[in-house]
Parts: sequence; structure tokens; C-alpha cells
Amino acid sequence: MLKIEFCHEEVEPLVKMLGRKTGVPLVVNRMTGNVEKEEESQEEEESQEEDEWSEEDEWQEEEEQVEKGQEGEEGGQKEASGDETVNTPQDLLLKVIGDQSRHAKVKPGTTGAPFAQFADVQIIDVVDILGVENDVSGLGAVIALHEIWENYISHLPGGRRSQYGPAHKSAVEVERVISPLLIGQPGARVACSSIGTERVRPLALDMEHYFVMLTPRPMERRKKDGRYEATIRNRTLLESFTLAVPSLGRVNPTLINNVVARMKDEPLATARVTPLRLTAEDDATALQRAQAVRNALIVALGEDKYAKGSKDTDITLRRVQHEGEGADLSSYRPWVTSSALESDVAGVRVDVCKPS
Ligand SMILES: [Zn+2]
Repeated sequence: MLKIEFCHEEVEPLVKMLGRKTGVPLVVNRMTGNVEKEEESQEEEESQEEDEWSEEDEWQEEEEQVEKGQEGEEGGQKEASGDETVNTPQDLLLKVIGDQSRHAKVKPGTTGAPFAQFADVQIIDVVDILGVENDVSGLGAVIALHEIWENYISHLPGGRRSQYGPAHKSAVEVERVISPLLIGQPGARVACSSIGTERVRPLALDMEHYFVMLTPRPMERRKKDGRYEATIRNRTLLESFTLAVPSLGRVNPTLINNVVARMKDEPLATARVTPLRLTAEDDATALQRAQAVRNALIVALGEDKYAKGSKDTDITLRRVQHEGEGADLSSYRPWVTSSALESDVAGVRVDVCKPS
């Protein structure tokens, strides 16, 4: 089920947009808040269970992610489960809407982070999402479907919740499938960079083969058109580094100093880390090495707020420890490609790129 909590009218334009983009005719059932396929709405109405949602599901605080992550941990429910395969945007919506054992819950609101915030009831900034959809066709739909899917995956059958990490990871994987279909370009969000520390600041989403640049709109336009203007940008390669990584384990910080120095010069630059493997090695070993380099870069760039003040600043990021595996995907500047390249160097290639 896809359930809208409160302010159905505010979410209706978003539901309409998703209906248009996916070709699934959608309506919001005002009685239940459920999003339904249009032609079925009449018959379905009577069979809806009304009292399933309690007042406890009211506004969640900013710290929701961490709190819920811990709760999930205590409850022993770390992993998301169920059928997580999605082939098309239509598929995604129909799967969520048609599932009587699990649900996604969303409500409109303003979020600290752009567009949305993970919570029991996912908060989505409808104005922001529709704003970027106007600028880059398909982008708003991808973002909204990511959030809906993430919330759906986090609600396990039987009412338990998974941690943020596995749910976000599943949504990132789904994004990889649906974003070429909706935006019309291959690739998916793998990294994110920003300029400055303002709450609403320029952001670059690294989409693997291109960038989406999000620029704060003038203050007077934000209420109507959303906080960010979105544009598609090509990739500019700034510099490539080949690093030999001697052994698994702690990555020597001096090894990555040059990369970090280059990235500090260019706040919007992201780093694609390609695993390099020797002929005799398997991909997994090379991939592990690349993940260690990525983690070391994140820490050296000061991006991992969970790692600050902590001694264990390598291999396992604290965020992953708190929120579950997958929590670190797509929101930092360095990212790792899925396949390794054969090389005479056991290490990584790091390509520092920025939006042109
Ligand atoms: Zn997410």
C-alpha cells in the first residue's frame, strides 16, 4: 500500500505527476489516504482497513534516521526483506500499491536535506520535487520513487522496521533501473558534492555518466518553484591517479594525500574509484581494496561526521555501524565502480571529475 498521511491535496500534484510519468493512473482515496490505481478505486474503498494507523505516527524528529536505526538493531531486524526486484517505474508503483502486507507512508513537509527525509512516515518536499521535475524531466519522479520505495522496504511485513541502510541501498539499486527509463540517460546517482555549509547550498549529484547540478533558486521563488534549480551537466575529468595499495587493512593516509588535495581545491569534484586487480586476483579482493580507499578518502575529506573524534577511521564507517549496510551509498564524494579492471598494479585508479 502507498499511504498519504495528512494534507492529501498537497501531495496530489505529486501523485498526478507520478501517474503521468509511469503511465499508471493514480488517485488518492480521501477516506483512507491510500494511493490507488484509478479504475479500482470504487471497489477497493470498502475493503480498506481504517484504524491501522495511530496517532503515534505523527511528526518524527530530525534524528529519526539514527533512532530508528538503533531501534532496528535492538529488535534484531537489520535487513530489509521480501521481493525487491523492480524492472520499470510502473512495476515499482504497482508492487507498492498492490502489496497488502507492507506499506509505504509519505507526508508532505519541509526537510533539512533536499527533497525528503527517511522516517516511519517519509517526509517529502513536494514543491522541491515538482520543481526539479520541471527543470529535468524524470528527475523529480526518480527522487519521489526512491523515497517511496525506501519507505516501503523499511516497513517489513508484520509492522517491524528495518534500518535506514538496507532500505536506502535497495532504493539506490532501484534508481539504477528506473532513472535511465525516466531521465533518458544511462547511469544512476552514485555520489554527491556541495559548496559551502548553508542549509540550501549548491549540490552536484554524480549520476555516473553525467552530473545533475542543483542550484539554490532566488529566495522569492523557492516557495512556488522549490529550493533548487536542476540542470544536466557533462563530466569534466580533472585528474586521474593510479595508486598501488600494498595490502588490505588500513590505507596509508599519505597514499591518498594528492587526491584529497585536488578534491579540496574543487568542492564540487567527486572521485570515481576503480578497483585494479592483478591477473591472479579475483574481483572481490580488488573491490575490497577500492572500498578501503573510498572510506579513507571520505574520512580524509572530513565528510564522515560519524567518524569525527573517533579512532576507527578506516574500513568500516561509523555511519554504516549505526544505520546498517548501505547507509553510505550515493551521498559522499568518492564512489566505487562495480567492476574491476585488470592491471599490473594491485590498487585503484581514482578519477577526479566535476560538473562542466
Ligand atoms: Zn535514500
